[in-house]
Amino acid sequence: MSFLKKETIFQDITKLKGVGSVLSKYLKKKRIEKIKDIIFNLPYSETDRSKISKLNELEIGKIQSIKVLVKKLNFPRIRNLPNKIVCEDDTGEIEIVYFNSREGYLRKIFPLNKWVVISGKINFFKKKYQMTNPDYVTNEENQEYVIKNIPKYGLTKGINEKKYRSISEQVIKNLPYISEWLDELFIIKNNLLNWNESIKKLHWTDDAKNIKSRSYRRLVFDEICANFLALSENRKRIKKEKIPKVFKNTISTKIIKELPFKLTKSQESVLNEINIDLKNPKRMFRILQGDVGSGKTIVSFLTIANVLENKYQCALMSPTEILSLQHFNLAKKIFNKINIRIEFLTGKTSYSKRKEILKDLAEGKINFLIGTHSLFQKKIKFKNLGYVVIDEQHKFGVKQRSDLAKKGGKNCDLLLMSATPIPRTMMMSLYGDMDISKINEKPSIRKTILTLSKPEKKINELWPFIKKNIKQQNQIFWVCPLINESQFLDYSSAKKRFDLIGKYFPKETGLIHGGLDKEERDKVLKKFLKKEIHILVSTTVIEVGIDFPDANLIIIENANKFGLAQLHQLRGRVGRGTDQGICVLLYKDTLSKNSIKRLKILKKTDDGFYIAEEDLKLRGFGDLIGYQQSGLKNFRFADPLIHEDLFKLAEAFIKKIESSEIEKYNFLLKLFDKAEIINVNDI
Ligand code: ADP
Ligand code: MG
Repeated sequence: MSFLKKETIFQDITKLKGVGSVLSKYLKKKRIEKIKDIIFNLPYSETDRSKISKLNELEIGKIQSIKVLVKKLNFPRIRNLPNKIVCEDDTGEIEIVYFNSREGYLRKIFPLNKWVVISGKINFFKKKYQMTNPDYVTNEENQEYVIKNIPKYGLTKGINEKKYRSISEQVIKNLPYISEWLDELFIIKNNLLNWNESIKKLHWTDDAKNIKSRSYRRLVFDEICANFLALSENRKRIKKEKIPKVFKNTISTKIIKELPFKLTKSQESVLNEINIDLKNPKRMFRILQGDVGSGKTIVSFLTIANVLENKYQCALMSPTEILSLQHFNLAKKIFNKINIRIEFLTGKTSYSKRKEILKDLAEGKINFLIGTHSLFQKKIKFKNLGYVVIDEQHKFGVKQRSDLAKKGGKNCDLLLMSATPIPRTMMMSLYGDMDISKINEKPSIRKTILTLSKPEKKINELWPFIKKNIKQQNQIFWVCPLINESQFLDYSSAKKRFDLIGKYFPKETGLIHGGLDKEERDKVLKKFLKKEIHILVSTTVIEVGIDFPDANLIIIENANKFGLAQLHQLRGRVGRGTDQGICVLLYKDTLSKNSIKRLKILKKTDDGFYIAEEDLKLRGFGDLIGYQQSGLKNFRFADPLIHEDLFKLAEAFIKKIESSEIEKYNFLLKLFDKAEIINVNDI
């Protein structure tokens, strides 16, 4: 085998010797599809076969290597009986046992009266040492291939170590010659290693276990760079020239005057940032971050007003129908004195209405369209779309963002809004392609949510409290983590809870859970919105972002099972009006020290960003629910906590790369599957 070519490693694994269709299917299940995936499938440990043991010192049950003389081959003529080979050294005897193997093959690898080297698991059967189907058998000349530490890969059934090793070695031994994208001095200075050497070390030493080793750090640095580079290229591609928007804040000023509240300073300053972007000759690609309840919606409406003033069409998309409907109603109210046409489009819009909307949109008769992701189906054509706002966008990855930006057309500005607090260290990894605006204060009229905790066994103390709340026309959320009692997990079940609460408040209680379909769920939610019921028992599926101004009490069961950021999001559903919001965290008796710490943080502060940072420190990056969906799991090797220095280093490194040099990094981008985001095809 000669050295692989660069482009070869992006080909299918079946291009390797010994990988047929059966094996490739198995490997594909393990996410090994292309040859390069072998490079990234790091060993998790090693099998020590390095010592040749004498037969009188064997340990039963252990994998060991022996050097023995072949004394006798025994091939019974009765079916199903195993073939046996008797071997010895100067200290004793061992039987090598084979099921389902061909005689000719065994005769070849076990030549009579010759020494052989064997490695495998030692058994003891009928007072004799035995080895069944050894992992390796070789002659003395080739013993070096076996007598060593051999990397162990996470492949259990379907492929044995020897087979995988032969595949993996074809790649690792013959890594393509690449032109380094890091220069030598940089590598040394930052305690890294060159690419070829680091891959070899990761596979053939125990470096892969040490995420601070130079080789591992090199891999991590590459991964971060590929990510950041894709983001920064994406940004360059999106932030192209456009016709600057022209407006004088005529409509938006009117709206502000009629608001029942005064904008916060923070709202004013992000409003200003967005308006400047709209007037800029480059397209806007901005994310507006703000904790739950910080008032992002009105900010987006005010900027939409400006774009409408400039006679462009606008679109506002949110993830669910209910949320869209709420936005639609608010829009009608806010724009009621202005002569614009607003429409509402979701998957449920009737055929005829949809047809009418599509036609009028294309003719420019609709100015502002609000809805779910249906807004961006292929058939939907705008006449002159100038602005797209997307609410609660945290489920979009980089690729989707870039697709969305393309869809809007060249004069279209894009604003994403998110309430997911992203710790500072991760901002660049997630939103390196966007400009960032932050609302960092909440309306001052809003009181900080009072957060209490209570052991679950005192649940009965809650009933009078709930009764009082209902009397005052307050609404209550009751959150449980799972729908059905599980034998294995100590979760309360929403259904069981619903039945219990129903005993006390039969006409006041509704239940939504993941098992309900959308329509049933919406029905219950609407009932709650209309105040036909006062208590909503649910699993965590309560829609993000819906404004329930009269919900002031939330009870969260098994609070310690939720991430802090998630708990914070959950409690953000209450206290959105002027009344005091209360959050009660119920917990089981046994709370770990860590859990107590976490609950304390939550009680102490209402700052979602601070909470996210603390959560990260306490639970580590891998654990964070919520971030996983947010695309942070893009990283397979890098850990933002442990490799923080490399994140910073990569950020500085990427900033210095000119667009004209990007070709130098194409191989890197392809390695980490980032090429398609920015359409790098050739390397
Ligand atoms: P989020 O940022 O979570 O999307 P919303 O935009 O839904 O928050 O706002 C939550 C509530 O706060 C709404 O009822 C909204 O009318 C109100 N609100 C927004 N800005 C202010 C403000 N400056 N002062 C008082 N209330 C405000
Ligand atoms: Mg919102």
